[in-house]
Amino acid sequence: MKERRWGSADDLAEPGSIILSPNFAVLTTRHDCWTCREQVPISALWVPNFVENFDDGEELSIPDPAVLRYVESINFPAAQHISAAAPWMVMATTKGSGTRYLANHCQACGAVHGDIQLFGVDGPFGLVTLEKRGTEHISVLAVDCPIEAAAGIAQAIWMDEISARAVQPK
Ligand SMILES: [Zn+2]
Repeated sequence: MKERRWGSADDLAEPGSIILSPNFAVLTTRHDCWTCREQVPISALWVPNFVENFDDGEELSIPDPAVLRYVESINFPAAQHISAAAPWMVMATTKGSGTRYLANHCQACGAVHGDIQLFGVDGPFGLVTLEKRGTEHISVLAVDCPIEAAAGIAQAIWMDEISARAVQPK
């Protein structure tokens, strides 16, 4: 059994695995740009449950929600939905990580808002921040499309609160 990974930002060297989920949601909140100080939208990808495929062939089925980080690739239909919902998420190579992933960009000045900051414990999608603030300020756009991504994951209690809001209207 692989050890579960919580939302710490210091595990960058961790190799990504393939995450599969039958559907997902785009979470959006607002965040002050570290460069131009404008308050701009930032997003994260949430899955209700997932199967994680590792390089060594091991497969793990997780019944709990998670948020994807360092998304290095994504299946085309899901990527189209993401571009439409969060056009500020664009592939970029960040200095801090040295890897190319789907990163949030400031809508005002174009600066990259790296995952290391957004998902850090006190970042806008971080453990401490959302346990303090709750998740009401986060908008949830449920997408009824399977997602397959090469990515890392973060899991935290606040992600359970998203579940009820991500239910597809029938
Ligand atoms: Zn900016």
